[in-house]
Amino acid sequence: MPEGDTVWNTAEVLRRALTGERIDRSDFRVPQLATTDLAGWRVLESTCRGKHLLLRLSDPDGERRMTLHSHLRMDGMWRTYPAGARWTGGSGHLIRVALHTAGAVAVGYHLHDLTLVPTDREETLVGHLGPDLLGPDWDPAGAARRVAAHPATSIAEALLDQRNLAGIGNFYKCEVLFLRGIWPWTPVARVPDLVGIVALAHRLLLANKGRWTQSTTGSLHRGQTSYVYGRRAAPCRRCGTAIHKADQADRVTYWCPTCQPRPDDT
Ligand SMILES: [Zn+2]
Repeated sequence: MPEGDTVWNTAEVLRRALTGERIDRSDFRVPQLATTDLAGWRVLESTCRGKHLLLRLSDPDGERRMTLHSHLRMDGMWRTYPAGARWTGGSGHLIRVALHTAGAVAVGYHLHDLTLVPTDREETLVGHLGPDLLGPDWDPAGAARRVAAHPATSIAEALLDQRNLAGIGNFYKCEVLFLRGIWPWTPVARVPDLVGIVALAHRLLLANKGRWTQSTTGSLHRGQTSYVYGRRAAPCRRCGTAIHKADQADRVTYWCPTCQPRPDDT
């Protein structure tokens, strides 16, 4: 599932393939952009905020700037191919857009919230986001303050709320809480050292930036990349207790009941 580091990697792939290039042909396959034609537009920049991808474009006269926004959610992705190469990223009906340049094509599969907005109005799409874990404005104290502002919310839900801090998905949520020994349903008000928690999340995302395999254990071997995530009933790597899995809000949570005990009076 795409998290902040995956989105960052995707923005980087698009940056390498497209920055400075002229789009020769665009092919949008979503109703809201079906008539959009970006032929002649130039790609200025590819960047991201939290889990939002922003492809900044300039019109053929260099007068108008627009941003093509996309969100990967659980299953979206962008792939780039050399011109003329076979597209291997997935079935054709999943394609939402293809941008052709002289040397390459960028194909977006199963993208969500694909929209084109004036670049100076990007804030309408991403202005609600909290500090970006992989952004230049990363601010652990500010992120912790936003989390603390909703003291009754469970810490697991608070970490996923992109208005608090942008970039944590379910994998890092589960792993960070394990590493800090925190029961995922603990109300924010009862969680010590929120700054330490968001700082740890930041370090984990940073460690995985630039590679596609996400790991919190230090191992990149299949089946060894997480402490609790995806390991229901497997023995905890620290204490041997079977890892639990349960629904929490509309997501699933993995945790070790021994390493992450429920506080006595909750
Ligand atoms: Zn354990």
